[in-house]
Amino acid sequence: MSQSQHILTAVAWPYANGPRHIGHVSGFGVPSDVFSRYQRMAGNKVLMVSGTDEHGTPIQVQADKEGVSARELADRYNRVIAEDLTALGLSYDLFTRTTTLNHYAVVQEIFKGLYDNGYVFPRTTMGAISPSTGRTLPDRYIEGTCPICGYDGARGDQCDDCGNQLDPVDLINPKSRINGETPKFVETEHFMLDLPAFADALGSYLQAKQGEWRPNVLKFALNLLGDLQPRAISRDLDWGVPIPLDGWRDRHDKRLYVWFDAVIGYLSASVEWARRSGDPDAWRQWWQNPDAQGYYFMGKDNIVFHAEIWPAILLGYNGEGARDGKPGSLGRLGLPSEVVSSEFLTMEGRKFSSSRQVVIYVRDFLSRYDADALRYYIAVAGPESQDTDFTWNDFVNRNNGELVAAWGNLVNRSISMAAKNFGAVPQVGDLTDADRALLASSKAAFAPVGAELARSRFKNAASQALDVVRDANRYLAEQEPWKLKGDPARQQSILHVALQVVDDVKTMLTPFLPTSSNKIYGMLGGEGVWTGMPEIREVGEEGGRDYPIITGDYAGAARWEHRPIAPGTPLAPPSPLFPKLDPKVVDDELARMGGG
Ligand SMILES: [Zn+2]
Repeated sequence: MSQSQHILTAVAWPYANGPRHIGHVSGFGVPSDVFSRYQRMAGNKVLMVSGTDEHGTPIQVQADKEGVSARELADRYNRVIAEDLTALGLSYDLFTRTTTLNHYAVVQEIFKGLYDNGYVFPRTTMGAISPSTGRTLPDRYIEGTCPICGYDGARGDQCDDCGNQLDPVDLINPKSRINGETPKFVETEHFMLDLPAFADALGSYLQAKQGEWRPNVLKFALNLLGDLQPRAISRDLDWGVPIPLDGWRDRHDKRLYVWFDAVIGYLSASVEWARRSGDPDAWRQWWQNPDAQGYYFMGKDNIVFHAEIWPAILLGYNGEGARDGKPGSLGRLGLPSEVVSSEFLTMEGRKFSSSRQVVIYVRDFLSRYDADALRYYIAVAGPESQDTDFTWNDFVNRNNGELVAAWGNLVNRSISMAAKNFGAVPQVGDLTDADRALLASSKAAFAPVGAELARSRFKNAASQALDVVRDANRYLAEQEPWKLKGDPARQQSILHVALQVVDDVKTMLTPFLPTSSNKIYGMLGGEGVWTGMPEIREVGEEGGRDYPIITGDYAGAARWEHRPIAPGTPLAPPSPLFPKLDPKVVDDELARMGGG
């Protein structure tokens, strides 16, 4: 194993206009946590950061609808989302929010750095207003035909069909999605990010990622380079980060665009984490150390922001675009090493939709099923490299077949037989060929499973660990230790071998199944914490408001290595790890969805 590395796990920021559903957490949440837990076990120094994305027009629109302020709405869903992600066991070092004073200060610093280097400039553009109300009509509430590909459901900010960033004034036949009227376009002044000035630098950056990134992500990002346009980074809106320039700072009708402030969250959250850790400069180890690696996790609708716009912002702040310049006061910042994007999850053949009840929120899911069951399903059957359909039937089958019948059963019968007959990890005598073969294949699985996890290939990693489980179940069926009452020495050896494999596989499945792995660690006589779990803490900031964060102590005993079990270690009688699900929950869940 190479020596310890600094690894930034930058997890996409969930938008705080409502609770998140399992499609969301299958894109950014579970993959980033499995990856981070593996990296910590492998001895690397992980900083996993994110938070709720709380500015922008959708929050304002939702707040208006509910008759509350944007801040009240953001407060409510920040807490709901933080609680849900904690319940799912996601091991954020810091999960914060974009409405902190710290975030505002870091965003404004990045803006100023770009501005001073000449990569941000003012421009008079055409902004949409609603003729009937006179209010600004947000980009994404305008719909029309895409001027690039001709798709007729393009939004004002982006075409979901060709993936291009759009300006609403360019849409053919624009219509308000709120009331169907044709918007009126009036002159308004905004700041633009000069994306064309980064074409060469982005091209070199992306070309160097050939063979490293998932091919679909790289291809998408390279395609975007062909048509880079200056992109507005401010909006006519009063809910967001103020523009930090004289004459703009105090204007209530102009704010930085929500996507611009949200991507800077990875940096601001790292800075906040460092301050809370007691060493305000500690973030620099993940952002300025040439050996550090930054992995960004998201769903594919966010590739453009992480593979194109965020690298451009960092290049501009560093003074590394076509106009050169020098780094701002924070110093030179590192670009993403890898953009790990998931594809989309659908549900029972349909797109997730809250309004049409094609949805299951994380909270509702976890009120009826275990977090490990959901984590496992997302890892082995989620949208890792292609769009994937969640079905209740598949969820129940995998839970009952893979977690309960294969893995849970191996753990349960090995530990209960050894605990009942010997009360402790039994001695091992002379090994047979079958013993040696199973022990060797279990020990040998650490390297390939770890290599798959390091490359975010979660399905392959889980399936190789499950192969060891199947080998072990076959071994027990052949050796039949329950029939060897008359040969206690041989019975002890078989159970010793089985427990060793249980211990190995428990280690290999820890990134996927932290809660049940902690239980197995305890049953096998382990002391202290195996792998740390996240918790919510209430914090404040100087001059600001109090808010909840997710954080935790993830040190634990877990290491990515085979560890020989010690004969004589007392065993705790096992309790079932994974509840078996009644197949009729499929009908219950489909009924909840309104008939399926
Ligand atoms: Zn298009």
